Amino acid sequence: MSTTSEKLQDGRGLQIVSPKPDHTFELDEKALVALLDSPDIRNRSVILVSVAGAFRKGKSFLLDFFLRYLHHTYVLNLKDGDWLGAEDEPLQGFSWRGGSERHTTGLLLWSQPFKATLENGEEVAIFLMDTQGTFDSQSTVRDNATVFALSTMISSVIIYNISQNIEEDDLQHLQLFTDYGRVALEKTEGKPFQHLQFLVRDWSVPYEYPYGAEGGQRLLEKRLEVNENQHEELKTLRREIKSFFAKLSCFLLPHPGMKVATSREFNGKLSDIDAEFKKQLKDLVPMLLAPENLKPKVMSGEMLKAKELFHYIKAYMEVFNGSELPVPQTILEATAQANNLSAVAEAREVYETLMEEAAGGSRPYLQPAALAREHRRARDKALHSFHAKKKMGGDAKSEVYKEQLIQELEEYFERLRAQNESKNIMNMIGTPVVFAAVLVV
Ligand code: GDP
Ligand code: MG
Repeated sequence: MSTTSEKLQDGRGLQIVSPKPDHTFELDEKALVALLDSPDIRNRSVILVSVAGAFRKGKSFLLDFFLRYLHHTYVLNLKDGDWLGAEDEPLQGFSWRGGSERHTTGLLLWSQPFKATLENGEEVAIFLMDTQGTFDSQSTVRDNATVFALSTMISSVIIYNISQNIEEDDLQHLQLFTDYGRVALEKTEGKPFQHLQFLVRDWSVPYEYPYGAEGGQRLLEKRLEVNENQHEELKTLRREIKSFFAKLSCFLLPHPGMKVATSREFNGKLSDIDAEFKKQLKDLVPMLLAPENLKPKVMSGEMLKAKELFHYIKAYMEVFNGSELPVPQTILEATAQANNLSAVAEAREVYETLMEEAAGGSRPYLQPAALAREHRRARDKALHSFHAKKKMGGDAKSEVYKEQLIQELEEYFERLRAQNESKNIMNMIGTPVVFAAVLVV
Protein backbone atom coordinates (compact mmCIF):
# COMPACT_ATOMS: atom_id res chain seq x y z
CA MET A 1 0.00 0.00 0.00
CA SER A 2 1.35 3.45 -0.83
CA THR A 3 2.13 6.12 1.74
CA THR A 4 -0.53 8.34 0.21
CA SER A 5 -3.38 6.10 1.24
CA GLU A 6 -1.82 5.36 4.62
CA LYS A 7 -1.80 9.04 5.46
CA LEU A 8 -5.21 9.76 4.00
CA GLN A 9 -6.61 6.89 6.01
CA ASP A 10 -6.01 8.89 9.16
CA GLY A 11 -8.48 11.53 7.98
CA ARG A 12 -12.26 11.40 7.94
CA GLY A 13 -15.29 13.47 7.16
CA LEU A 14 -16.24 15.38 10.31
CA GLN A 15 -19.95 15.94 10.61
CA ILE A 16 -20.14 19.64 11.42
CA VAL A 17 -23.79 20.25 10.68
CA SER A 18 -26.41 17.54 11.18
CA PRO A 19 -30.09 17.66 10.36
CA LYS A 20 -32.61 17.10 13.17
CA PRO A 21 -36.04 15.48 12.72
CA ASP A 22 -37.78 18.87 13.07
CA HIS A 23 -35.87 20.16 10.02
CA THR A 24 -33.56 22.40 11.99
CA PHE A 25 -29.83 21.75 12.07
CA GLU A 26 -27.35 21.10 14.81
CA LEU A 27 -23.84 22.53 14.78
CA ASP A 28 -21.04 20.52 16.38
CA GLU A 29 -19.23 23.52 17.84
CA LYS A 30 -16.61 21.46 19.62
CA ALA A 31 -15.50 19.59 16.52
CA LEU A 32 -15.54 22.78 14.47
CA VAL A 33 -13.43 24.76 16.95
CA ALA A 34 -10.95 21.88 17.29
CA LEU A 35 -10.53 21.90 13.53
CA LEU A 36 -10.35 25.66 12.90
CA ASP A 37 -8.55 26.80 16.00
CA SER A 38 -5.65 24.36 15.99
CA PRO A 39 -2.32 26.19 16.41
CA ASP A 40 -0.88 25.63 12.94
CA ILE A 41 -4.17 26.41 11.17
CA ARG A 42 -5.94 29.24 12.99
CA ASN A 43 -4.02 32.17 11.49
CA ARG A 44 -4.04 30.90 7.93
CA SER A 45 -6.40 32.31 5.30
CA VAL A 46 -9.26 30.01 4.41
CA ILE A 47 -9.70 28.23 1.11
CA LEU A 48 -12.98 26.36 1.39
CA VAL A 49 -13.98 24.15 -1.49
CA SER A 50 -17.42 22.60 -1.27
CA VAL A 51 -19.54 20.42 -3.47
CA ALA A 52 -23.32 20.74 -3.48
CA GLY A 53 -26.17 19.32 -5.50
CA ALA A 54 -28.61 16.42 -5.63
CA PHE A 55 -27.71 13.16 -3.91
CA ARG A 56 -26.19 10.17 -5.67
CA LYS A 57 -24.56 12.20 -8.38
CA GLY A 58 -20.95 11.41 -7.55
CA LYS A 59 -20.10 14.33 -5.25
CA SER A 60 -18.29 12.34 -2.58
CA PHE A 61 -16.63 10.21 -5.26
CA LEU A 62 -15.24 13.37 -6.86
CA LEU A 63 -14.10 14.81 -3.53
CA ASP A 64 -12.00 11.71 -2.96
CA PHE A 65 -10.02 12.56 -6.08
CA PHE A 66 -9.62 16.08 -4.71
CA LEU A 67 -8.17 14.48 -1.58
CA ARG A 68 -5.67 12.52 -3.63
CA TYR A 69 -4.54 15.66 -5.40
CA LEU A 70 -4.29 17.69 -2.20
CA HIS A 71 -2.35 14.98 -0.43
CA HIS A 72 0.05 14.54 -3.33
CA THR A 73 0.65 18.25 -3.81
CA TYR A 74 0.55 19.69 -0.30
CA VAL A 75 1.51 16.81 1.99
CA LEU A 76 3.98 14.86 -0.14
CA ASN A 77 5.01 18.08 -1.93
CA LEU A 78 5.15 16.38 -5.31
CA LYS A 79 4.68 18.39 -8.49
CA ASP A 80 4.98 15.49 -10.97
CA GLY A 81 1.33 15.51 -12.10
CA ASP A 82 1.11 11.87 -11.04
CA TRP A 83 -1.51 12.31 -8.36
CA LEU A 84 -4.36 10.23 -9.73
CA GLY A 85 -3.07 7.12 -7.96
CA ALA A 86 -2.32 3.51 -8.77
CA GLU A 87 -4.55 1.55 -11.16
CA ASP A 88 -5.79 -0.91 -8.55
CA GLU A 89 -6.04 1.35 -5.51
CA PRO A 90 -9.53 1.59 -3.96
CA LEU A 91 -10.82 5.14 -3.64
CA GLN A 92 -10.92 6.36 -0.05
CA GLY A 93 -11.93 9.45 1.84
CA PHE A 94 -15.47 10.80 2.08
CA SER A 95 -17.67 7.78 1.84
CA TRP A 96 -19.47 7.33 -1.42
CA ARG A 97 -21.82 4.59 -2.27
CA GLY A 98 -23.91 2.87 -4.87
CA GLY A 99 -27.61 2.28 -4.34
CA SER A 100 -30.23 4.94 -4.31
CA GLU A 101 -30.41 5.62 -0.54
CA ARG A 102 -28.77 8.87 0.35
CA HIS A 103 -25.68 8.65 2.47
CA THR A 104 -24.12 11.93 3.42
CA THR A 105 -26.38 14.24 5.38
CA GLY A 106 -25.67 17.75 6.55
CA LEU A 107 -22.21 19.26 6.11
CA LEU A 108 -18.96 17.37 6.49
CA LEU A 109 -15.50 18.88 6.61
CA TRP A 110 -12.43 16.77 5.94
CA SER A 111 -10.58 16.41 9.23
CA GLN A 112 -7.19 17.26 7.74
CA PRO A 113 -6.89 20.81 6.40
CA PHE A 114 -4.09 21.09 3.81
CA LYS A 115 -1.46 23.75 4.31
CA ALA A 116 -0.17 25.72 1.34
CA THR A 117 1.67 28.93 0.58
CA LEU A 118 0.41 31.00 -2.35
CA GLU A 119 2.70 32.70 -4.87
CA ASN A 120 2.28 36.03 -3.04
CA GLY A 121 3.47 34.42 0.22
CA GLU A 122 -0.01 34.15 1.76
CA GLU A 123 -0.26 31.13 4.04
CA VAL A 124 -3.51 29.28 3.57
CA ALA A 125 -5.41 26.26 4.87
CA ILE A 126 -7.49 24.31 2.36
CA PHE A 127 -10.71 22.76 3.65
CA LEU A 128 -12.90 20.34 1.73
CA MET A 129 -16.61 20.23 2.40
CA ASP A 130 -19.10 17.56 1.40
CA THR A 131 -22.78 18.40 1.62
CA GLN A 132 -26.11 16.76 2.12
CA GLY A 133 -27.86 15.46 -0.93
CA THR A 134 -29.96 18.54 -1.55
CA PHE A 135 -32.98 18.90 -3.81
CA ASP A 136 -34.09 15.32 -3.42
CA SER A 137 -37.62 14.24 -2.58
CA GLN A 138 -37.01 13.88 1.15
CA SER A 139 -35.63 17.33 1.76
CA THR A 140 -37.88 20.26 2.30
CA VAL A 141 -37.23 23.61 0.69
CA ARG A 142 -35.93 24.73 4.02
CA ASP A 143 -33.27 22.01 4.25
CA ASN A 144 -32.13 22.87 0.77
CA ALA A 145 -31.96 26.55 1.46
CA THR A 146 -29.98 25.98 4.63
CA VAL A 147 -27.38 23.65 3.25
CA PHE A 148 -26.95 25.34 -0.10
CA ALA A 149 -27.02 28.91 1.16
CA LEU A 150 -24.70 28.17 4.07
CA SER A 151 -22.18 26.47 1.79
CA THR A 152 -22.38 29.28 -0.74
CA MET A 153 -21.76 31.94 1.86
CA ILE A 154 -18.77 30.31 3.50
CA SER A 155 -17.07 28.73 0.47
CA SER A 156 -14.35 30.27 -1.63
CA VAL A 157 -15.48 27.93 -4.40
CA ILE A 158 -18.80 26.16 -4.48
CA ILE A 159 -19.01 23.36 -6.98
CA TYR A 160 -22.56 22.89 -8.14
CA ASN A 161 -22.67 19.26 -9.19
CA ILE A 162 -25.44 18.56 -11.71
CA SER A 163 -26.34 15.70 -13.93
CA GLN A 164 -26.29 15.66 -17.73
CA ASN A 165 -27.09 19.30 -18.46
CA ILE A 166 -27.80 22.74 -16.98
CA GLU A 167 -31.57 22.76 -16.79
CA GLU A 168 -33.88 25.61 -15.86
CA ASP A 169 -34.49 23.80 -12.55
CA ASP A 170 -30.81 23.89 -11.67
CA LEU A 171 -30.81 27.65 -12.10
CA GLN A 172 -34.05 27.99 -10.13
CA HIS A 173 -32.36 26.40 -7.12
CA LEU A 174 -29.99 29.34 -7.00
CA GLN A 175 -33.01 31.55 -6.43
CA LEU A 176 -32.97 30.31 -2.84
CA PHE A 177 -30.40 32.88 -1.91
CA THR A 178 -30.65 35.53 -4.59
CA ASP A 179 -32.84 37.54 -2.19
CA TYR A 180 -29.95 37.71 0.20
CA GLY A 181 -27.56 38.48 -2.65
CA ARG A 182 -29.66 41.49 -3.66
CA VAL A 183 -29.52 43.09 -0.24
CA ALA A 184 -25.89 42.15 0.31
CA LEU A 185 -24.92 43.69 -3.03
CA GLU A 186 -26.33 47.03 -1.91
CA LYS A 187 -24.86 46.98 1.56
CA THR A 188 -21.40 45.51 1.09
CA GLU A 189 -18.32 46.06 -0.94
CA GLY A 190 -17.80 43.79 -3.89
CA LYS A 191 -19.91 40.80 -4.81
CA PRO A 192 -21.61 38.83 -2.05
CA PHE A 193 -20.49 35.40 -3.32
CA GLN A 194 -17.21 34.25 -4.71
CA HIS A 195 -16.87 31.47 -7.25
CA LEU A 196 -19.65 29.27 -8.52
CA GLN A 197 -18.34 26.32 -10.49
CA PHE A 198 -20.99 24.41 -12.39
CA LEU A 199 -19.93 20.82 -12.91
CA VAL A 200 -22.00 18.85 -15.39
CA ARG A 201 -21.62 15.06 -14.95
CA ASP A 202 -22.28 12.50 -17.69
CA TRP A 203 -22.12 15.13 -20.42
CA SER A 204 -23.10 13.21 -23.52
CA VAL A 205 -22.88 15.61 -26.45
CA PRO A 206 -19.19 16.53 -26.72
CA TYR A 207 -19.69 17.27 -30.42
CA GLU A 208 -21.90 20.20 -29.42
CA TYR A 209 -19.80 21.48 -26.57
CA PRO A 210 -16.52 19.64 -25.94
CA TYR A 211 -15.64 18.18 -22.53
CA GLY A 212 -13.73 20.42 -20.18
CA ALA A 213 -13.67 24.05 -19.18
CA GLU A 214 -14.02 25.69 -22.56
CA GLY A 215 -17.03 23.70 -23.65
CA GLY A 216 -18.48 24.27 -20.19
CA GLN A 217 -18.01 28.01 -20.41
CA ARG A 218 -19.80 28.13 -23.73
CA LEU A 219 -22.69 26.06 -22.45
CA LEU A 220 -23.01 28.23 -19.36
CA GLU A 221 -22.98 31.44 -21.37
CA LYS A 222 -25.70 30.01 -23.56
CA ARG A 223 -27.82 29.04 -20.53
CA LEU A 224 -27.34 32.41 -18.86
CA GLU A 225 -28.18 34.37 -21.97
CA VAL A 226 -30.95 36.87 -21.53
CA ASN A 227 -33.21 37.23 -24.52
CA GLU A 228 -36.40 39.01 -25.46
CA ASN A 229 -38.59 35.92 -25.52
CA GLN A 230 -37.91 34.93 -21.92
CA HIS A 231 -40.34 35.54 -19.14
CA GLU A 232 -39.37 38.50 -16.92
CA GLU A 233 -38.60 36.17 -13.98
CA LEU A 234 -36.15 34.11 -15.99
CA LYS A 235 -34.39 37.25 -17.17
CA THR A 236 -34.04 38.61 -13.64
CA LEU A 237 -32.71 35.31 -12.31
CA ARG A 238 -30.02 35.23 -14.99
CA ARG A 239 -28.99 38.84 -14.43
CA GLU A 240 -28.79 38.26 -10.70
CA ILE A 241 -26.75 35.08 -10.89
CA LYS A 242 -24.27 36.97 -13.02
CA SER A 243 -24.09 39.94 -10.70
CA PHE A 244 -23.83 38.10 -7.35
CA PHE A 245 -20.87 35.84 -8.06
CA ALA A 246 -17.40 37.21 -8.59
CA LYS A 247 -16.66 34.28 -10.87
CA LEU A 248 -18.88 31.85 -12.76
CA SER A 249 -17.50 28.87 -14.60
CA CYS A 250 -18.57 25.50 -15.89
CA PHE A 251 -16.85 22.20 -16.64
CA LEU A 252 -18.25 19.28 -18.64
CA LEU A 253 -17.27 15.81 -17.40
CA PRO A 254 -17.90 12.67 -19.44
CA HIS A 255 -19.64 9.57 -18.09
CA PRO A 256 -17.12 7.56 -16.01
CA GLY A 257 -18.13 4.21 -17.49
CA MET A 258 -20.58 1.47 -16.67
CA LYS A 259 -18.57 -0.11 -13.86
CA VAL A 260 -18.63 3.17 -11.91
CA ALA A 261 -22.30 3.76 -12.51
CA THR A 262 -23.71 0.27 -12.14
CA SER A 263 -21.32 -2.30 -10.65
CA ARG A 264 -21.91 -3.47 -7.12
CA GLU A 265 -18.26 -4.54 -6.77
CA PHE A 266 -16.79 -1.24 -7.96
CA ASN A 267 -14.44 0.10 -5.29
CA GLY A 268 -13.24 3.21 -7.06
CA LYS A 269 -10.11 1.76 -8.60
CA LEU A 270 -8.81 3.60 -11.64
CA SER A 271 -8.68 0.57 -13.91
CA ASP A 272 -12.48 0.47 -13.81
CA ILE A 273 -12.89 4.10 -14.84
CA ASP A 274 -13.09 5.29 -18.46
CA ALA A 275 -9.94 6.91 -19.85
CA GLU A 276 -11.70 10.08 -21.03
CA PHE A 277 -13.11 10.66 -17.54
CA LYS A 278 -9.64 10.35 -16.00
CA LYS A 279 -8.19 12.65 -18.65
CA GLN A 280 -10.76 15.35 -17.85
CA LEU A 281 -10.29 14.85 -14.12
CA LYS A 282 -6.60 15.64 -14.60
CA ASP A 283 -7.63 19.03 -16.00
CA LEU A 284 -10.46 19.78 -13.62
CA VAL A 285 -8.81 19.08 -10.27
CA PRO A 286 -5.64 21.22 -10.69
CA MET A 287 -7.81 23.96 -12.19
CA LEU A 288 -9.51 24.20 -8.81
CA LEU A 289 -6.74 23.21 -6.42
CA ALA A 290 -3.29 24.01 -7.87
CA PRO A 291 -1.42 26.64 -5.82
CA GLU A 292 -1.68 29.25 -8.59
CA ASN A 293 -5.47 28.80 -8.76
CA LEU A 294 -6.32 29.02 -5.07
CA LYS A 295 -8.28 32.11 -4.01
CA PRO A 296 -8.76 32.75 -0.28
CA LYS A 297 -12.24 33.30 1.07
CA VAL A 298 -13.14 36.97 1.43
CA MET A 299 -15.81 38.15 3.90
CA SER A 300 -16.95 41.78 3.88
CA GLY A 301 -13.87 42.76 1.91
CA GLU A 302 -11.26 40.99 4.05
CA MET A 303 -9.51 37.66 3.76
CA LEU A 304 -11.00 35.28 6.28
CA LYS A 305 -8.75 33.48 8.77
CA ALA A 306 -9.51 29.92 9.83
CA LYS A 307 -10.13 30.98 13.45
CA GLU A 308 -12.74 33.50 12.22
CA LEU A 309 -14.70 31.09 10.08
CA PHE A 310 -16.33 29.68 13.21
CA HIS A 311 -18.08 32.99 13.98
CA TYR A 312 -19.68 33.02 10.54
CA ILE A 313 -20.84 29.43 10.54
CA LYS A 314 -22.32 29.86 14.01
CA ALA A 315 -24.09 33.13 13.19
CA TYR A 316 -25.55 31.78 9.94
CA MET A 317 -26.66 28.56 11.58
CA GLU A 318 -28.56 30.49 14.23
CA VAL A 319 -30.32 32.47 11.55
CA PHE A 320 -31.23 29.45 9.49
CA ASN A 321 -32.50 27.64 12.55
CA GLY A 322 -34.99 30.40 13.36
CA SER A 323 -38.68 29.67 13.14
CA GLU A 324 -39.06 31.13 9.66
CA LEU A 325 -36.90 31.00 6.57
CA PRO A 326 -34.53 33.89 7.18
CA VAL A 327 -35.20 37.17 5.48
CA PRO A 328 -32.15 38.70 3.82
CA GLN A 329 -31.89 41.40 6.44
CA THR A 330 -31.41 38.78 9.17
CA ILE A 331 -28.61 37.09 7.26
CA LEU A 332 -26.97 40.45 6.79
CA GLU A 333 -27.26 41.08 10.52
CA ALA A 334 -25.62 37.72 11.17
CA THR A 335 -22.75 38.66 8.88
CA ALA A 336 -22.28 41.98 10.65
CA GLN A 337 -22.34 40.22 14.00
CA ALA A 338 -19.71 37.70 12.86
CA ASN A 339 -17.56 40.55 11.45
CA ASN A 340 -17.66 42.26 14.81
CA LEU A 341 -17.04 39.12 16.85
CA SER A 342 -14.00 38.32 14.70
CA ALA A 343 -12.72 41.87 15.15
CA VAL A 344 -13.15 41.60 18.93
CA ALA A 345 -11.33 38.25 19.04
CA GLU A 346 -8.48 39.60 16.94
CA ALA A 347 -8.13 42.73 19.11
CA ARG A 348 -8.23 40.64 22.29
CA GLU A 349 -5.38 38.55 20.92
CA VAL A 350 -3.33 41.66 20.13
CA TYR A 351 -3.78 42.87 23.71
CA GLU A 352 -3.08 39.51 25.32
CA THR A 353 0.06 38.88 23.29
CA LEU A 354 1.51 42.28 24.14
CA MET A 355 0.64 42.01 27.83
CA GLU A 356 1.96 38.45 28.11
CA GLU A 357 5.27 39.70 26.73
CA ALA A 358 5.38 42.59 29.17
CA ALA A 359 3.87 41.11 32.32
CA GLY A 360 3.03 37.42 31.79
CA GLY A 361 3.55 34.68 34.36
CA SER A 362 7.22 34.24 33.49
CA ARG A 363 8.02 37.98 33.53
CA PRO A 364 9.43 39.77 36.61
CA TYR A 365 7.41 42.09 38.85
CA LEU A 366 6.61 45.48 37.33
CA GLN A 367 6.05 48.73 39.19
CA PRO A 368 2.28 49.56 39.07
CA ALA A 369 2.89 52.70 36.99
CA ALA A 370 4.94 50.76 34.44
CA LEU A 371 2.28 48.04 34.28
CA ALA A 372 -0.43 50.66 33.69
CA ARG A 373 1.65 52.16 30.90
CA GLU A 374 1.97 48.76 29.22
CA HIS A 375 -1.80 48.30 29.58
CA ARG A 376 -2.57 51.62 27.86
CA ARG A 377 -0.16 50.87 25.04
CA ALA A 378 -1.57 47.37 24.45
CA ARG A 379 -5.16 48.62 24.71
CA ASP A 380 -4.52 51.33 22.10
CA LYS A 381 -3.00 48.78 19.75
CA ALA A 382 -5.95 46.43 20.32
CA LEU A 383 -8.50 49.19 19.64
CA HIS A 384 -6.60 50.17 16.54
CA SER A 385 -6.80 46.58 15.32
CA PHE A 386 -10.55 46.54 16.06
CA HIS A 387 -11.14 49.74 14.07
CA ALA A 388 -8.95 48.68 11.18
CA LYS A 389 -10.99 45.54 10.53
CA LYS A 390 -13.72 46.07 7.95
CA LYS A 391 -17.13 45.47 9.43
CA MET A 392 -20.62 45.47 8.02
CA GLY A 393 -23.23 47.51 9.82
CA GLY A 394 -21.03 50.57 10.37
CA ASP A 395 -19.99 52.38 13.57
CA ALA A 396 -23.41 52.29 15.19
CA LYS A 397 -23.33 48.50 15.25
CA SER A 398 -19.67 48.13 16.17
CA GLU A 399 -19.93 50.58 19.11
CA VAL A 400 -21.57 47.90 21.26
CA TYR A 401 -18.83 45.41 20.46
CA LYS A 402 -16.15 48.01 21.14
CA GLU A 403 -17.58 48.62 24.62
CA GLN A 404 -17.62 44.89 25.24
CA LEU A 405 -14.00 44.66 24.07
CA ILE A 406 -12.85 47.46 26.37
CA GLN A 407 -14.58 45.80 29.28
CA GLU A 408 -12.90 42.46 28.53
CA LEU A 409 -9.49 44.12 28.29
CA GLU A 410 -10.01 45.86 31.63
CA GLU A 411 -10.93 42.54 33.23
CA TYR A 412 -7.88 40.89 31.77
CA PHE A 413 -5.77 43.78 33.08
CA GLU A 414 -7.25 43.31 36.56
CA ARG A 415 -6.15 39.67 36.57
CA LEU A 416 -2.66 40.64 35.42
CA ARG A 417 -2.47 43.29 38.08
CA ALA A 418 -3.28 40.75 40.79
CA GLN A 419 -0.76 38.33 39.34
CA ASN A 420 1.85 41.08 39.25
CA GLU A 421 1.23 41.91 42.91
CA SER A 422 1.65 38.25 43.86
CA LYS A 423 5.10 38.37 42.28
CA ASN A 424 5.86 41.33 44.52
CA ILE A 425 4.87 39.37 47.65
CA MET A 426 7.04 36.47 46.47
CA ASN A 427 9.92 38.93 46.33
CA MET A 428 9.33 39.97 49.90
CA ILE A 429 9.10 36.38 51.14
CA GLY A 430 12.17 35.59 49.07
CA THR A 431 14.30 38.24 50.80
CA PRO A 432 14.78 36.57 54.25
CA VAL A 433 15.60 33.31 52.50
CA VAL A 434 18.47 35.05 50.74
CA PHE A 435 19.62 36.52 54.10
CA ALA A 436 19.43 33.07 55.70
CA ALA A 437 21.49 31.60 52.93
CA VAL A 438 24.13 34.32 53.39
CA LEU A 439 24.21 33.66 57.14
CA VAL A 440 24.75 29.91 56.68
CA VAL A 441 27.69 30.65 54.36
P1 GDP B 1 -23.22 11.69 -3.83
O1 GDP B 1 -24.47 11.25 -3.14
O2 GDP B 1 -23.50 12.80 -4.81
O3 GDP B 1 -22.10 12.03 -2.90
O4 GDP B 1 -22.75 10.45 -4.76
P2 GDP B 1 -21.58 9.39 -4.49
O5 GDP B 1 -20.24 10.01 -4.63
O6 GDP B 1 -21.87 8.63 -3.24
O7 GDP B 1 -21.78 8.43 -5.75
C1 GDP B 1 -23.00 7.74 -6.00
C2 GDP B 1 -22.82 6.70 -7.11
O8 GDP B 1 -22.54 7.33 -8.35
C3 GDP B 1 -21.67 5.73 -6.87
O9 GDP B 1 -22.12 4.45 -7.17
C4 GDP B 1 -20.61 6.16 -7.86
O10 GDP B 1 -19.84 5.06 -8.30
C5 GDP B 1 -21.40 6.75 -8.99
N1 GDP B 1 -20.72 7.83 -9.71
C6 GDP B 1 -19.66 8.58 -9.33
N2 GDP B 1 -19.35 9.51 -10.26
C7 GDP B 1 -20.24 9.36 -11.26
C8 GDP B 1 -20.46 10.05 -12.51
O11 GDP B 1 -19.76 11.00 -12.89
N3 GDP B 1 -21.50 9.57 -13.27
C9 GDP B 1 -22.30 8.52 -12.89
N4 GDP B 1 -23.26 8.14 -13.72
N5 GDP B 1 -22.13 7.88 -11.74
C10 GDP B 1 -21.12 8.29 -10.91
MG1 MG C 1 -22.10 11.95 -0.87
